[in-house]
Amino acid sequence: MDHPENDDQYKGLKVNKGISDVPTVNPYLKQRVQRRQYTPGEFVEGILKGDISILSQAVTLVESSLHEHQQVAQEIIEKCLPHSGQSVRVGITGVPGAGKSTSIDVFGMHLLEKGHKLAVLAIDPSSERTKGSILGDKTRMEDLSRQKNAFIRPSPSAGSLGGVARKTRETIILCEAAGFDSIFVETVGVGQSETAVHSMVDFFLLIQLAGTGDELQGIKRGIMEMADGIVINKADGDNIDKAKLAASQFRNALHLFPPSDSGWTPQVLTYSGYYNLGVKEIWEMIAAYIAFTKENGFFEYKRNEQAKYWMYESINETLRQTFYHNPAVEKILSSTEQQVLHNEISSFIAAKQMMDAFLEDIRK
Ligand code: GDP
Repeated sequence: MDHPENDDQYKGLKVNKGISDVPTVNPYLKQRVQRRQYTPGEFVEGILKGDISILSQAVTLVESSLHEHQQVAQEIIEKCLPHSGQSVRVGITGVPGAGKSTSIDVFGMHLLEKGHKLAVLAIDPSSERTKGSILGDKTRMEDLSRQKNAFIRPSPSAGSLGGVARKTRETIILCEAAGFDSIFVETVGVGQSETAVHSMVDFFLLIQLAGTGDELQGIKRGIMEMADGIVINKADGDNIDKAKLAASQFRNALHLFPPSDSGWTPQVLTYSGYYNLGVKEIWEMIAAYIAFTKENGFFEYKRNEQAKYWMYESINETLRQTFYHNPAVEKILSSTEQQVLHNEISSFIAAKQMMDAFLEDIRK
């Protein structure tokens, strides 16, 4: 084939004649990379030994929507449960660009230097639409991703927020059983996913930026109320004063909130993830919170409440799935929806009709 790019006018550009077919991949390679199927017992054994490859494969089962994968996954989780719980779980949120990945990279390196093992997980609400997740992506955390004591896993990408969050919560259990004593759960500070993250972590950290005009604008009150610590990132160079100003505005705003259930007063700090300034202080704050809540019993109380919350979430999710995948419901769902859209029946009647169809079907 003639390559017009090789024309004299495009100096410096040369396209080589290509080859028509890519030679087949080494046939032995496929055999080699094909993974052996482990039994649930072998999975658990591998996880407890801290085998990262086995842990990753188990997480893949947790994330899978295939029924047989879920069965194995649930068995693994159940066996790992007694070995879980011994970690500090931190939720990290902030709008895109706030500096989450830069910060997690330096926060994480700080923890590893202190001898900890860190797992970075994520809940990405956008993943349902984009079918791909950016959060928790290794390429965003360059230093951390090269460390053997760090396990980075992007957000599970399929399913409802509740379903995605449940998978992340189950992954926490597996990571803890594998010896990770620090867990970060990252999410984008824009919507409901914070509530899901809040329901699975001990400390909720909100990353904010200064210099965007009215600092408090656009932050949902609910998110601020959930935060145990607010940290203003990019406090470097010309931005230091603005960051300090933003911090005092946040402190003032926090005074207006009712005292938190934990008895802890949320702190506001400034730092620079990029220049690694003020990072140590953030960890001191988190450590102080953990010590404080362990002392007053709130740590244990919150974990118990979370366990209860997830029991109900799990029931709700199972009911939802069972309902929508029921053949009798599937059969009439879209026609009933059309009737509602055309004002032929009310939404309540429609719901009742579908519930009746469902209940009748499962009684059969
Ligand atoms: P994310 O979308 O929240 O994960 O944000 P990133 O970590 O990708 O950061 C967004 C941009 O802000 C990148 O260009 C970073 O280099 C920059 N950035 C992150 N932290 C800092 C910081 O502490 N100081 C400055 N000046 N820039 C930063």
